[in-house]
Amino acid sequence: MNESKTDRLRRLDKQHIWHPFTPMKLWLESDPLVIVAAEGMHLIDSDGNRYLDGVSSLWCNVHGHRVPEIDAAIRAQLDKVAHSTMLGLSNEPAIELADRLMRIVPENLKKIFYSDAGATANEIAFKMAAQYWYNVGHPEKCEFIGFGDAYHGDTVGAMSIGRTELFHKPYFPLLFKTHFASTQSTESLEQILKRHSQCIAAICIEPIVQGAAGMLIQPPGFLSEVRRLVTQYNTLLIADEVATGFGRTGKMFACEHENVQPDLMCVAKGITGGYLPLAATFATQKIFDAFLGDPREGRTFFHGHTYTGNPLACAAAIASFDLLKKNRVVEGVAEKAIAVAEMLRPIAAIPHVKEIRQKGLMIGVELQGFDPQLRTGARVCMNLRKRGIILRPLGDTIVIMPPLAMEIDDLKSIIEALNAEISGLM
Ligand code: PMP
Repeated sequence: MNESKTDRLRRLDKQHIWHPFTPMKLWLESDPLVIVAAEGMHLIDSDGNRYLDGVSSLWCNVHGHRVPEIDAAIRAQLDKVAHSTMLGLSNEPAIELADRLMRIVPENLKKIFYSDAGATANEIAFKMAAQYWYNVGHPEKCEFIGFGDAYHGDTVGAMSIGRTELFHKPYFPLLFKTHFASTQSTESLEQILKRHSQCIAAICIEPIVQGAAGMLIQPPGFLSEVRRLVTQYNTLLIADEVATGFGRTGKMFACEHENVQPDLMCVAKGITGGYLPLAATFATQKIFDAFLGDPREGRTFFHGHTYTGNPLACAAAIASFDLLKKNRVVEGVAEKAIAVAEMLRPIAAIPHVKEIRQKGLMIGVELQGFDPQLRTGARVCMNLRKRGIILRPLGDTIVIMPPLAMEIDDLKSIIEALNAEISGLM
């Protein structure tokens, strides 16, 4: 008997592939979806079924899939050069993109350092902070402050400053010393700073919303108070805008909600419209200047990745940037967020729902009353696939993070389907 295309792909996947953040025993027992194509807001599987991409392909898609302008930009760049190194050379799309991004980031940020993932953008910020103090004669300032339940990626530095027991416990012995403050009030942060500020290189925060923690929203004024304390105690502020950047919260960057200017800022995910791996770390002129000097002085930032500033990714990012502006996408998020909040109301009234947290199009619906072992959040998301919707939970918090350009009708379909699934939970 001939094996179907789907069966073959599933068999080979299970034979060869180890998936990220995936309990592989359950995966091997399941019939995984294999995506073969996409169109607009839909992903299409190997049997031709269509699904609304309700988590924007892990929080990164902005304008939808197969966007003519981004596709054309990548094709045009392919006719020039696909990759060339940024180590000792530059490339045209990386320069053009930098020129655009510098117009929209908080104005004190003057330099961009490219990399290729959120985790690397954060690692770079940590290393820049530590070496900044080293270069200006304060090598003792090499410790960091993070926030409880923060998430900054899965490399060792990122896990050190954004560690969670569920994800990172086996690696705790590998992680470097970090002080942890609360996001409920700035009191604990100030206590740490009072005692240790002479050793603190930087404080790292996911501004306004802690994404992977379950879309936890900080109290109003929290971020600006953090900024005030960072300045008062002579350390640096790193804003991890990997999830919040490029319009997700209804402002281009979440820091703008409180007019905060970080010293270092990290972006990734949405920078290319969700097309290709690209990330960036932005720094102030003051930080950059501390790395200038004769090579023999040892001030150089010795960090780099092979695909840093990749021309194809930068070409996609330029096209995405131009669309963000042309289609007024960020303004659209702020408007849609109001409509979405209204649509979510009936879900908030379901007894199984503990809380709904929303900032822009960054939404967490937290369930209650279920044993975590039952993986109810995952069960709800699996059932939603039968309704043509892809969502992915964080524990028992269902995340809705659609492409920012998703129209109200599609957002409504997702929310109504979620309502039906949660209402039907026993
Ligand atoms: N920082 C934040 C705030 C994130 O949400 C994520 C990813 N979800 C990361 C860093 C890590 O990004 P990446 O997966 O691209 O390494």
